[in-house]
Parts: sequence; structure tokens; C-alpha cells
Amino acid sequence: MKKIISIWLTCIFILSNTIIFTNFCSATEDNNQNYLQNNSTRKNWTFMFYDDADFYNGYDPLEDFAGQACSGENLNVIVLQDKEHDSAKIWHIDENHNKNLLKNMGEINMGAYETLKDFISYCKENFSAERYIISFYNHGSGWQGCCNDDTNNDSLTMDEIQKAFIETDGVDIVCFSAPCLMGALESVYELKDYTDVYIGSEEYSGYMWWINIMKPLCDTLNQNPGRSNIELGETIIQLIDNDSYNKSSRDDLTMGAIRTDKMNDLGNAIDILSQDVINNFEESYPIIKQFYQDVQSFGTGRFLDLYDFVEKYQIFETNQTINTDLKYVLENLTKVIIAETHGSNKPGAHGLSINFLNTSNPIYDTKYADLDYGLDFAYDTYWDELLEKIWLKTSKGIAVGSNIVGADSSISEVLDFIEDCNINMLIVDFGWITWSWNNTLFDYVGNLINESKEKKIPTWLMYRARTLEGEYEHLQHQVHKNGEVDGRYLCFTDNDNINWSISWAHKMLEKYPTVDGIILYNPMFFSDCCYCPVCLERFRNDTGIVSNPIDFDVDSEEYKTWIIWRKNIITDFINEWKNNITDFYPELQFGMVVESGEMAGSVGQNITSLGEIVDLLCPFVALDSITETDFASNIINEVKKITDVRVISDIKIYGPYNNTNNDIINAITSSLNSNGDGFFIWDFDSLVSGNYNIESIKMTYNPYYFGWYSPSIQETSGGILQVYIGIIMFIIATLSIAILFLYERKKQ
Ligand SMILES: [Zn+2]
Repeated sequence: MKKIISIWLTCIFILSNTIIFTNFCSATEDNNQNYLQNNSTRKNWTFMFYDDADFYNGYDPLEDFAGQACSGENLNVIVLQDKEHDSAKIWHIDENHNKNLLKNMGEINMGAYETLKDFISYCKENFSAERYIISFYNHGSGWQGCCNDDTNNDSLTMDEIQKAFIETDGVDIVCFSAPCLMGALESVYELKDYTDVYIGSEEYSGYMWWINIMKPLCDTLNQNPGRSNIELGETIIQLIDNDSYNKSSRDDLTMGAIRTDKMNDLGNAIDILSQDVINNFEESYPIIKQFYQDVQSFGTGRFLDLYDFVEKYQIFETNQTINTDLKYVLENLTKVIIAETHGSNKPGAHGLSINFLNTSNPIYDTKYADLDYGLDFAYDTYWDELLEKIWLKTSKGIAVGSNIVGADSSISEVLDFIEDCNINMLIVDFGWITWSWNNTLFDYVGNLINESKEKKIPTWLMYRARTLEGEYEHLQHQVHKNGEVDGRYLCFTDNDNINWSISWAHKMLEKYPTVDGIILYNPMFFSDCCYCPVCLERFRNDTGIVSNPIDFDVDSEEYKTWIIWRKNIITDFINEWKNNITDFYPELQFGMVVESGEMAGSVGQNITSLGEIVDLLCPFVALDSITETDFASNIINEVKKITDVRVISDIKIYGPYNNTNNDIINAITSSLNSNGDGFFIWDFDSLVSGNYNIESIKMTYNPYYFGWYSPSIQETSGGILQVYIGIIMFIIATLSIAILFLYERKKQ
């Protein structure tokens, strides 16, 4: 949480630093036709400012820039500005820094591609030039685009910016001045065919780094109109680098100028690398996991500096093919970077970042590869497939009771939760199968599974091969040492029971054949079971021991044989269960919830041999018995010691025991920090019951839950948080103004 607030504050601080008080000029709409006729002579350059200030606490970039940027003999400066509570206007800034109103647009949506397209068209029609440069103002988020318009709850995706550029024949130079994190490879790639030079910051940005360079930049365009686009890219970085303000507070500065004509080669090199890493994934993944934490990252770790990543990867990778690929990426990366500057806090910045995942709690937005979302880099390369593979390597799951889908919880509630938490494993739990079967709305479950699959979320079924008390009395239930027949737990020595258990899997899979896997919930013998006639006879036949196991001394050799025999029974059952189902569903994966630690052995579960059969073991972490914060990781690590199979914890919330919120958060965090492969929470219903602070749990699943800046933040975070952030921003903005004011006075 602290981190997210600090990102917010950084952004607001940066934006607020640019406030300078000047007065609006009083141009009227009437003069714009005359003005246009008198001023729209064709020049060498038209500089377009796309100033989207229509967001919460947005400032007035026009005021800043009119004081700095200005037209000249060879340059026209045009500004489109939309403020939160004001109509949007297009202005011409003349030689004397006067703002001349060209057009009052009323309320417009700066997050719509049409607005960008219309603005560029307007400039090209009315201020036609040899070349065009455009600058964007607002928040930004790398491949997710920029320019949120709060009034319209919309923003520009990279695909939309591309579309606007295509339909207006593009521009020569693009500057993402204020928008953060736009020095992203995916964003450059998206615009590569519609601009020559692309300038953006890998880390947070702000007008403060651009404000003072606008005057010399305009002077350069005016005085050296023939300077090439690439030379200008270099000039801009030099100006930023040399600016006195930037020199004094440049610790977090990152800014790079990229030439787009070599981006195809770079994309191709990354594609080859991605494919080879995917082909060698099981070997390469642990290597990446080992070094990636040290790579220069941006946006609280969401983006990595591509150069730094490749350079560090080269040190550890032993695969020759991949090493050649890495070298090829570096060669091509070096060619696209025209110039770059960075402060001392970002020593590993080289000008271009790339989307990556934290490997301990990977967050992957599937929109990245969504065809409709239109990110060309994801379409053209296997980088997205690689990211998805890394994402799925650590399971972050939720089990949803089949009976609540469409009843207690709507499909969209579950899907929203999945999205908020960035969940990558959905388990539809049929629980006590004979009960659930009569209490499930099958069509709703089917729709949930389809929608989950559509979102590329691995989706599993789970069930307990048990009966309710008094049901199926003709089946052999487990017999306790005292002779009591258990009402619910079946004996897996009995063939009819094995077939009965398997038949339920078939019933479920007939309805939902597209699921990725099926989990059998904790098949076991009670520690004092089973002394049913079937077990007694089978034990005699299997071992040749004729005395009754009831009489075994717990220290005897015979008792040890008995315990091993019971484990074999469960292992044989799981083998039979899997083989039978595989015949019908060859692609299906198999999982098993098991008792944790020492308990597993005493209930007939041989973790090592079970791990050789199934694809997934889920030791359960019973939250009622948590005593230490690393409880969950201890359980997983114990299991990991004796099996090579994937191990994810089944974090069981026990409603009646009133687990605290911290119990759940600790168990998730601890599972993620273990040697295991993730966790799932059982179950959705308890989690959203109202007993827990669901927002904090979502934050644990997904540290970016509150997001980088997006219009929805204000709606979703709501309440106290909103007020809290609001107050802090107000204080910081006020302080900044005061400091700036004093600073300005001192200068005079
Ligand atoms: Zn038995």
C-alpha cells in the first residue's frame, strides 16, 4: 500500500511542480478565422501539444508552455488543452508567447483516438509544415498507453495512438513529456512505422524535466530547421541533460530517444530469444529467477531495463543458443537508442524498458496479448507467451464452490475477483460430491468455466469422493479400530468404491470437458482405519500376514507393514483413478489435496509416490492452527523435500474459527515465499463473506490491485483511502507551490 501511495505522490508531486501562475489571455472565438488566415503560412515545423489535463488534480500545462514554447519564423506551436472542469480549446502560441484561441471545442474526450486524430488533422490542415513534432501531457503507463480523461473515463491505448497516426499520416517526432513509463519497448514498437523518433522516460516522468528545454528546443527548430529527426532526438536528450533544474534534481531522471527504423530488427531478435527460452524453459526459468531481482526496474518492478536484463542474463545462462540470442538482442538494442540520460538512482537505465513479471508474485495482464487490444509487439513476437509461462509458473488460485455459482455469487462477481487479484487458477469445487451434484446450477458453472478459459485462466475441477452420513450404505465405508463404520469416508481398497469415485469424475468431465485438470480432495485412511472385511482379506493376500491388524503393536514390524500397505492402497487407487480418466481425456492434468507434513504418512499418503503419478500436490494449510507467520511455507517446504512435482498450498479458511485477516495474508505471503509453486484459497465464499478486509487480500494477491494510475482507481478505492490520498496530495501540492513561489522570488 505504501508503495502505491508513494507512486501516486511521486506523480502528483512531479505534475504539481510545474504549476506557474500566469493569467489566461482573453481571446475570443470570433477572431479565430481571421487569425488563422493571417497565421497559417506553411513553415518547416509544427509543434503540437496534446495536453490532456482532464484528470483529478490535473494542472495547466498550457500556462507552463506558453511561457516557454513559442512560434517563430520556421515554427508554429499549437496546443490542444482539456481541463477537468473547463471546455477544451485549441490555441496558437505566437512569437511573443501570447496564447491565441483558435477553437473552442467544448467538453471532449482526450482518451478517444478520434480526438487525437482530429487534432493532428486540424494542425496539418491549418498549419501545414514540412515536419511535425507532438508532445503528450498526462499520466502514462508504458504499453498500457497514456492520457486518461477522467470526465469520460477513457484513455488512449497504444493501438489507438497508432490508429490516429495512421489516419493522419503520422508525425516525425513524438515526445511523451509528462506521461510516466513511456520509454517502453512495446509503445515504441506500436508507433514505429508512423514516427521517426520516439522520446519517453523508462521511469516516472514529468513536465519539470521538459519545461525549461521548450524554449531552446523551439529555438533550435526555428534556427536550424534542417536538422534531421535523429539529430533532434539527440538534441532533446542533450537539452534535458544540460538543463540546470535537471542537473540539480536528476536522481530519478530517465529519458531516452529511440529511432524507430531499426525496431523491426530488435523485435525480431527478442522474438528469437523468447522462442528459445520457451523451448528451454525448465532450465532457463530458474536462471532468470536467480538474477532478475537485480535488474534495473521501473514502475515498482513491472518493467525492466532491456539492456540491463540481457546483460545480466548473459552472465548466468549456459545454453549456447540462448547466449547467441542475447548477444543479437544487445546488438540490435544498441542500434535503436539514439541518446539516453539517467540519474544516479537509476544506474541500470539504458533508454528502453520491457514488460516483465516479478517472479515471486507474478502479475500478468492478459490484455497484453489480447488481439483486440492490438499490441503489435505481443502479436509479432513470443515475448507474451514467455511472460505468460512465467506467470503460470506460480499459481495464485481460488476455489469456488460449485453450488454458489449463479446462486450466492454471480458469475461476474467471481470473474471480477479473478481480475482484481490477477488470479491464474480457478478451481470449481464440487466439494462433497453427492451433495453438490444436487445443489449446482450446471449451466452457470459451465458459463463460468467458459469465461475463465476465455481469459486464459487455467481452470480445474475438484471433488471429494465421499458420501453424506447415511447415504450409499451399500458401499464399503471405512471401519474404525473400535468396529464403528464411518458414515462418510469410503474405503479405497474396495473396487466398487474405486469405480464409484472415478464415475463422479466422468460425470463432471462429461459436462465440462474443456477444463485443464481435476483435483481429488484428500483421499485417505483415518489413522485408525480401515478394518473392513475387504481390507482384512486384501492385507492377508498381499502380505501373507495372517494375524488381525487390529492386534498389531504399534512398534511391531507387522504394524510397519500395515502402514506401508495402506499407503500402497491409496497410491494404487490414485493410479487407477488417473489412468482410467486419462484414457478418455488424454490432455487432462491431475491433482490431489493432501494432508500436510507428518500427517500425510499417518493417513496413508505416500507423498513421494503420489507425486510421481499426479501433476499437482496441494498440502492443505489449515488456518485454524496457524501459530507462526511462516507456517505455510514450512508446510510446502516439507512436501517439496520429498517430491519433484508441483506443490501449491490449499489455504483453508475455517469460518467457524474466525481466522483473522492477517492469518490469510500471512498464509498467502508465506506460500509465495516458500520453495513451492503458489497457493489457492479455499474458498471464495468464506473470503467474500464480509468477515475479512477483502481489499487487503486482493492487494496480497495482486500488489498492483490499486493500480498505476487509471480512472477506475477513484471508483474502486473509494472512501477513506480516497480522502487520505486527497489530503496528502493537497498538502504536498500546497507545499510545492509555496516552495516554488519562494524560489521564484529569490531568483528575482
Ligand atoms: Zn477397508
